[in-house]
Amino acid sequence: MGEIRSYRCNACDHDFSRHEGRGFVVQMLYCDRCGCSRQIPTVDDKPVSITCECGGSIHESARPRCPACNSSDIGDDTGPFSFGVIKWD
Ligand SMILES: [Zn+2]
Ligand SMILES: [Zn+2]
Repeated sequence: MGEIRSYRCNACDHDFSRHEGRGFVVQMLYCDRCGCSRQIPTVDDKPVSITCECGGSIHESARPRCPACNSSDIGDDTGPFSFGVIKWD
């Protein structure tokens, strides 16, 4: 089951959230270079890695990047979103 988790950027203090993990139907992957997201069908338990247009690789365990300044200096999970961790699938 996927979750929405919230993070805070250490560089610009921007708060953001992202979908993580895999649902029954789709899973979210992230680029470790530009931070873009890719939604792919959940097929099996094999780790998936896709080459991004930016040259980075898109995979499940990529660290979050700030959507505002693209910094990878992201604090760990700031804890539950104000309304808790949301299951999205
Ligand atoms: Zn930032
Ligand atoms: Zn990329």
